[in-house]
Amino acid sequence: MSACQLPPENARPRYGPGERIAVLVPVAVAGAYDYRIPDGMTIGEGEFVSVPLGQRCAAGVVWGDGEGKIDEDKLKDITARLDCPPLPDVSRRFIDWLAAYTLSAPGTVLKMAISVPAALEPPKPLRAYAINPDPPPFRMTPARGRLLSVAADGLARTTTELAREAATGTGVVGKLLDAGGLIEVQIPAAPALAHPDPERPGPSLSAEQAQAAKQLTAAASAGRYSATLLEGVPGSGKTEVYFQAVAAALKRGRQVLVMLPEIALSAQWLARFLGRFGAPPVEWHSDLSPGQRRLAWRAVAEGRAKVVVGARSALHLPFPDLGLIVVDEEHDASYKQEDGVIYNARDMAVARACLGDIPVVLASATPSLETVVNAGSGRYRQLVLADRHAGAEMPEIDVIDMLADKPAPGRWLSPALERQLKETLAAGEQTMLFLNRRGYAPLTLCRTCGHRFQCPRCTSWLVEHRRAGQLQCHHCGFKVASPERCPQCEAEDSLVACGPGVERLAEEVAATFSGVRVELAASDVITSPRAAANLVRRIEEHETDLIIGTQIIAKGYHFPLLTTVGVVDADLGLSGGDLRATERTYQLLYQVAGRAGRGARPGRVLLQTYMAEHPVMVALTSGKRAQFLETEARARKVAQMPPFGRLVALIVSGRDEGAVDETARTLGRTAPGHEGVQVLGPAPAPLALLRGRHRRRLLMKAPKDINVQVIVRHWLGRSRWPSRVRVQVDVDPYSFL
Ligand code: ADP
Ligand code: ZN
Repeated sequence: MSACQLPPENARPRYGPGERIAVLVPVAVAGAYDYRIPDGMTIGEGEFVSVPLGQRCAAGVVWGDGEGKIDEDKLKDITARLDCPPLPDVSRRFIDWLAAYTLSAPGTVLKMAISVPAALEPPKPLRAYAINPDPPPFRMTPARGRLLSVAADGLARTTTELAREAATGTGVVGKLLDAGGLIEVQIPAAPALAHPDPERPGPSLSAEQAQAAKQLTAAASAGRYSATLLEGVPGSGKTEVYFQAVAAALKRGRQVLVMLPEIALSAQWLARFLGRFGAPPVEWHSDLSPGQRRLAWRAVAEGRAKVVVGARSALHLPFPDLGLIVVDEEHDASYKQEDGVIYNARDMAVARACLGDIPVVLASATPSLETVVNAGSGRYRQLVLADRHAGAEMPEIDVIDMLADKPAPGRWLSPALERQLKETLAAGEQTMLFLNRRGYAPLTLCRTCGHRFQCPRCTSWLVEHRRAGQLQCHHCGFKVASPERCPQCEAEDSLVACGPGVERLAEEVAATFSGVRVELAASDVITSPRAAANLVRRIEEHETDLIIGTQIIAKGYHFPLLTTVGVVDADLGLSGGDLRATERTYQLLYQVAGRAGRGARPGRVLLQTYMAEHPVMVALTSGKRAQFLETEARARKVAQMPPFGRLVALIVSGRDEGAVDETARTLGRTAPGHEGVQVLGPAPAPLALLRGRHRRRLLMKAPKDINVQVIVRHWLGRSRWPSRVRVQVDVDPYSFL
């Protein structure tokens, strides 16, 4: 990645009436459009404007000098300048860079940066009402009386608030205002934000933590580009350590971005932040309401939001003065955005840091091979926390060989795991069963005719969700009520559920251990940040004994009473053609294991596997991570696979299978003939049908030092395809489906 080689920041030019300027609009076109500045307007680069676009008006950003592609007489005037701080230079360069890297239209990338168009207008003050201290005489009714007694405290309330509290209709509020019982007061729409206080003391750090914190603080205080890997076993205090760097950046008055893979589920993280800094961070994720998004975006743009914690999309917020980025759980696959602009937010965070000349911290217990290699070569600094805080030990990890220790038919827990669970529960401790599969059973078939239930729109089996009484597709969301009889042979009572999901496991647990309080933790059960926070509280307060969870419960959580973790199917992620299957399985299982034994009581982890000799199982049980990584790295090096070589995937899709095939074949025929560059495919994607679209894949493999973007751009430039076929480019693919 060569983000650092871009030219330095320019002084921002201003333009006057009659001048032609380029405006980037958030639509998928090749570049910016030219517009003219009308009389009486001057405008600077980066400012937000409203421009005519086809039949409508769109918000855009002044990108620079006009390019002259439109004739003078066709040139349109800018409609208005918007009352919003300009998009910072670094944000604009980041948009251009990201567009070039991912081969996306700059306008599409801009769209991610201005995802809340409403925020481009300043918030209107809210109209609110308070009691009139000196009212004229007016007629009293019971409803008016209730309103007046609510308003008697003298506070200002909106119409809805008043009506709700007084249990009246909103019309009564207006009538009472007309009658003179209330007066109108204006309150600012954007509430003042409490600022996190970097001067508050943190916990006293261990020698190892203090050493790491010192280096990170130095990096944050230097305020220049640096990338640091903060590697530490789960529970070693990585969060405490990077909080020190956050404090250092805040002391310099800069903004901070902390990225978490699953922000909606991070109640514990938020509570810790609040405890440490005395004020909450600004949150940015998909669970915010439109109003919250608008306030948050504006607070970032105006520099009022000092610390933002968010999912990958937070990277596109218009920080005017970003001074530090932290990417927690940097290895997490959810940093990869798989639709629209396809990019890895971890990598783009490093590029953003580079462009802004600021430090970035990548934290993980199981850093990705990419990051490990960068640390090894000296491109990244590396800090290691080897010990768990307060002398807690990493749990002992053992495998249960399922070939030798078989569960009874129709059951999924081996006798050995059952014994361990019993012991733990008897000791008054908590246990977790990890199974990365939602629902009841991943496949339903008819015993009579062999019919299997498949999604009509995807190449995938329908998953039974018994609690919901449905069969669901986990790829497209398709749902049908669970049928009573086989749709093919009409046999009744003939459908069998094959394989386990968390719901089925809960059934087995309930049948095996009586009186045990069980919680399900899966994304279809825990559907909101509040539900997640409640679940965490119930576990913390020991209102539950046994948690059955998918990956949503595998990350970051700290439950001191949780001592035993059972991984029901440790082999689940190892099948399929994924380049990173081994690495990812290791990371996930290690994360899961890291939930056990975080308090004073030692932890125990049992992995149920049919592949007890697999390198992943050996690495986990022996604790020899370095050796595992070396073997993994060697294999990738020999194959010239990432991070030692580069990959770009092309995904050709459309509803018309013939047209898709034709396009894929054409792309195959016109594949680049560069030395060292190899193109595999076209081949049907493993998900050959997704949401009703047929899909074919091509994979380009290139040596590391080749500019793959230039090659792919030329390749696509030489090819033509009908508009009903889509060709997506996935640079550095993570998914091979
Ligand atoms: P990690 O992020 O590496 O998993 P955390 O930062 O979450 O580790 O720390 C694990 C637990 O130990 C947390 O509850 C944290 O508050 C606590 N902890 C870590 N370091 C200290 C410290 N120096 N003093 C007090 N508590 C600490
Ligand atoms: Zn589907």
